[in-house]
Amino acid sequence: MKNILEIKNLTKYYGKTLAVKDLSLELHAGEIFGFIGPNGAGKSTTIRSIMNLINKTKGEVYFLGETLTKDNLTLKKQIGYLPSEVFLYEDLTVKEMLDYHESFYKKNLSKRRKELVKRLKLDESKKIEDLSLGNQKKLGIVLAFMHEPKLLILDEPTSGLDPIMQQVFYDLLQEEKEKGTTIFYSTHILSEISKICDRVGIIKEGNLLKVESIKELQSKNLTNVTITSNEIEKITKELNVEVETLDEKTIKFKNTLDSNNLIKILSKYEIEKLLIEEPTLEDIFLHYYK
Ligand code: ADP
Repeated sequence: MKNILEIKNLTKYYGKTLAVKDLSLELHAGEIFGFIGPNGAGKSTTIRSIMNLINKTKGEVYFLGETLTKDNLTLKKQIGYLPSEVFLYEDLTVKEMLDYHESFYKKNLSKRRKELVKRLKLDESKKIEDLSLGNQKKLGIVLAFMHEPKLLILDEPTSGLDPIMQQVFYDLLQEEKEKGTTIFYSTHILSEISKICDRVGIIKEGNLLKVESIKELQSKNLTNVTITSNEIEKITKELNVEVETLDEKTIKFKNTLDSNNLIKILSKYEIEKLLIEEPTLEDIFLHYYK
């Protein structure tokens, strides 16, 4: 698969603080890549480095095979960027801000702009300084999406959006994906990743710990087993697994046994209830968050 964005050995220090360490990452054309990690992990620093908003200590970023520099406007115009906090010219109205943004592009953006403003229910006559946080975010989304970029870089895009607007936003993302837009999606919200992303990169304390497809991540992990029985004590002893919770009649554990083995053992006992579940992505990520 073709790589649309390549980050090579990115390192960023703020003074003595190491924020991102030797990070290399490739984004495949057309995928939604989830960039996930707890607060302070280095997500925004990585994104600001890609966008050349801060100086990298070390490393390179290539977009469409070319080095992405501050001055390469042709390349920059093919990226849509939504910062985690949208800072805009407060004195302008929404309409003036959108006009200003539109003026940078040769192609006609008015149709797409109108559609986005309508779907996100933005009031163009409002002054930016009077917008709520959620409405500022919506304006940020229109600004990032309206020129139909090849690559969308979204930093915590749903923060501040109410649940209905979040759904509108997820629909927009899905449509972008169908069009072939590549999306770099940074978030600390675990549930968003499984809903939206194809692959995921987990970052913690400036280190990229893992890059994997959501499917792989789920399949490699152990199932959760819950057993209820009057003979739970005997069963627990025989299974010899690490029990997570235990009460009078019920145990819960991550299954490290072969499934056939598990069934063979259980068949000897009177079982009231047996539940075998796929691990949730939350389970998997929490393991890395610790
Ligand atoms: P995330 O986006 O994952 O929450 P950040 O990239 O904002 O993480 O932060 C990574 C690390 O860099 C944190 O330790 C943070 O405190 C530090 N950091 C971020 N911005 C600055 C800055 N402007 N000056 C000094 N340290 C910073």
